Amino acid sequence: MKTIYSAEKLQKAIMKARPWNLTALILRISNMFPEIQPAFMELIGIIDELKNPADYLYTSMKKLGKNVRWYLRAIFYLAEKILPDFIMNAILRYLINVILIPYFEILDEKSFLKMKKKLGKDRTKIILDIVGEAAKTKADADRYMESYKYVIHQFGGKIAVKPSSLLSKEDFDEHNYDERKEILKNKFAELFTEIKGTGVSIIIDAEEYFDWCHLTEEAFMEVADQPRFRGMTNEIGIALQAYRKDALLSAFKLLAVSRNRLFPLRIRVVKGAYWAEERHIAEERGKEFPLFEKQSDTDKMFNNVVFVLLYYRKSIFVSPASHNAKNIVEALRNANSDYSCFEFEVLNGMGESIRRALTELEVPVSVYCPLIRKGGSPKEGMKYLIRRLDEVAKSSHVLKNV
Ligand SMILES: Cc1cc2nc3c(=O)[nH]c(=O)nc-3n(C[C@H](O)[C@H](O)[C@H](O)COP(=O)(O)OP(=O)(O)OC[C@H]3O[C@@H](n4cnc5c(N)ncnc54)[C@H](O)[C@@H]3O)c2cc1C
Repeated sequence: MKTIYSAEKLQKAIMKARPWNLTALILRISNMFPEIQPAFMELIGIIDELKNPADYLYTSMKKLGKNVRWYLRAIFYLAEKILPDFIMNAILRYLINVILIPYFEILDEKSFLKMKKKLGKDRTKIILDIVGEAAKTKADADRYMESYKYVIHQFGGKIAVKPSSLLSKEDFDEHNYDERKEILKNKFAELFTEIKGTGVSIIIDAEEYFDWCHLTEEAFMEVADQPRFRGMTNEIGIALQAYRKDALLSAFKLLAVSRNRLFPLRIRVVKGAYWAEERHIAEERGKEFPLFEKQSDTDKMFNNVVFVLLYYRKSIFVSPASHNAKNIVEALRNANSDYSCFEFEVLNGMGESIRRALTELEVPVSVYCPLIRKGGSPKEGMKYLIRRLDEVAKSSHVLKNV
């Protein structure tokens, strides 16, 4: 078994494992101009809503002013003067919709099956995530439940479930905390019953803090601890966000539930995808900000949670999910080449070079694949896409791995 000693070494392995294709090439070229990346990422998220994306782009570049290198400014200036907007718009739409969006790999069923076959050759497992907006009505939530049941029996494997797809906005508004929890518990129980005897795993995603975090965790733990589910052989799990100041407390609570079970719970340790949104909600509701203010504190908490869970790894399955080489190295160090009850998770597309590097090192890794449900439109992937764009725009290392 090979051992990795430093983040630099892993980063090098990740760079070496980068796939070569047109998308990767364009993203690598874009790395040479980090000052314009956030504006481009924003454009990707809204291009379909814009009548004249070229105009939007030129305006964004003008706003950036002298922060953009002079020759880039000259190129945009000339493009605006010489190229008719309809040509620039066609170029932008092609670049974004045909070349760049596939980097985030939101799949339909056909491409999902192809992907499953390809990854299966590397012994990489898949976590299937049905993308979409939160359920607005009870009928929407019922449709999501049907979609989950459909993928359980159609594709099997591991399935990610979003609490906001099960407890609709309508239910949320009509009920108090305890009643919402009861509804969510019943939905979790329905899913856990559905997977019994199928070999399918269910992992509950973590969503926004104020409305969802504790509601989801409590509902999950209370159902997982029920005698009828304590002895189930299917893996069930939940994501835990390390940007929460109370993340370690939740880790211990989950650990206590897990130790009571025949098979351990899986905890996907993530940093958290809703930082900016939470800040906005906290301000709006006049609440104390429950998350760390500095990325370095989140990074530390991520490492600490992984460390603690790994210490109890016979009682809990630890699944660090990050694209940050430093955190991956730290988790590898703490795993100490014992990969029982341990597996990394990466996002399909964005995490491909990391997946390859880890697979090469014979470290277990699962790929989280967003899937558009049967009959759904690519638009349903928008919320997922926006979260990823936001991460990419704010983080330097993700694009470095491209
Ligand atoms: C397989 C997989 C599954 C995921 N599932 C979920 C999920 O269920 N729920 C969920 O919320 N997210 C989920 N994520 C996303 C995850 O939470 C991160 O947003 C994403 O992975 C980026 O973190 P990083 O370690 O890869 O990158 P890095 O660039 O190292 O870290 C970026 C992260 O640091 C944190 N951060 C940034 N700025 C600050 C700041 N000023 N103060 C404090 N913290 C800050 C944020 O969490 C941000 O996302 C998942 C990610 C993966 C790979």
